[in-house]
Amino acid sequence: MPKPRGRHFFANPGPTNIPDSVLRAMDRGSIDFNDSEFVEVYEEAYAGLKRVLRTQQHVFMANASGHGAWESSIANLFSPGDSILVVESGFFSDEWAAMGRAFGLNVQMLPADWRHGAYIADMHAALAADTEHRIKGLCVVQNETSTGMSIPLPAVRQAIDAAKHPALLLVDTISSLGSLEFRMDDWGIDCVVGGSQKGLMLPTGMSFTAVSEKAFAAHQHARLPRFYFDWTMMSKRAHRSFIGTIPTSVFYGLRESIRLLEEEGLDNVIARHTRLAEATRRAVQTWASANDGPQFFCNNPERYSNSVTTVLMPEGRSSDPLRKTIRERFNVSLGGGLTKLSGRVFRIGHLGDLNEPMLLGTLGAVEMGLRIEGIPHGRGGVDAAMAYLAGD
Ligand code: PLP
Repeated sequence: MPKPRGRHFFANPGPTNIPDSVLRAMDRGSIDFNDSEFVEVYEEAYAGLKRVLRTQQHVFMANASGHGAWESSIANLFSPGDSILVVESGFFSDEWAAMGRAFGLNVQMLPADWRHGAYIADMHAALAADTEHRIKGLCVVQNETSTGMSIPLPAVRQAIDAAKHPALLLVDTISSLGSLEFRMDDWGIDCVVGGSQKGLMLPTGMSFTAVSEKAFAAHQHARLPRFYFDWTMMSKRAHRSFIGTIPTSVFYGLRESIRLLEEEGLDNVIARHTRLAEATRRAVQTWASANDGPQFFCNNPERYSNSVTTVLMPEGRSSDPLRKTIRERFNVSLGGGLTKLSGRVFRIGHLGDLNEPMLLGTLGAVEMGLRIEGIPHGRGGVDAAMAYLAGD
């Protein structure tokens, strides 16, 4: 098979496409991170990141992927044997929980069907039953990238308040920040976990935790071992973040990606993600209309994710050959299934630097792949997406 030409359409749910102007902004040699030229860029990018998080609180950043931010949240907030309650949503909630166990925490899972999502009432009940307030933190993934499902955070906050429970609210925004609505301060979130490579449209490698005053106070008594991610140590550094060398080019990129987000307007960015997600769903709905066609993995429309759609393959068909065909023939990369969903689903990422023609190209490639692989599906998914986007 000859190497595919033309633009590589990257439709994974992260990392995401990096805008040309962000690439240009990062294309520079090394600079001393204490140099006044860089400090100015850093401060602008840092202030912008806080605006995107809609917070006045402090953000601690590190050279790490999202896993590092998870580790930062756990190591900074808890002591050995502390209990945390992790809301099950899919692969990523399970990984965060596994990390908590590895750090010696008593991790309770709030069980949920991966296709439906957790019930808010169950969260309330679990917290209300914890009359001794043993649960120190409630961990929630705002947008579960493996299943294509999101969770309404204001309702989670209300559940905690209604149970009059003092647990810290920790939220993973790795595949939602810059794509779905998010308001750290208004929604009373104590610790936000985020990363560079999705809605912020940057390369992988910088991740962060945003920390409320309540969380910082808890941190000061927390005894889990930590060093690289230690918030106290970070807050004493000149940049009030980072232990060690700062990835300077990422900050030139971050300043530019925030400029792009704000030029479009954060509300418009969210509206664009909502629109492109709905167009994707129109296509999937059409494909699903055939007998034995692929289906939405998420069977709870209220929780459909606006940054990724996970599509369940018909029984007995693997998604891997389909993804391979689409990649090799059309230069379009889709996400695969993770752990127990391996081969059972494919994931269409529709977040970050994306517009209508890019999405339609991806949907067209998926529909052609379904034909080539002989997978039953309703015809006209791309048409349905176009009709929606054109406002028919
Ligand atoms: N949380 C969510 C919701 C994610 O989607 C990911 C990665 O895709 C992670 C955490 C882990 O981040 P990373 O792979 O950057 O370590």
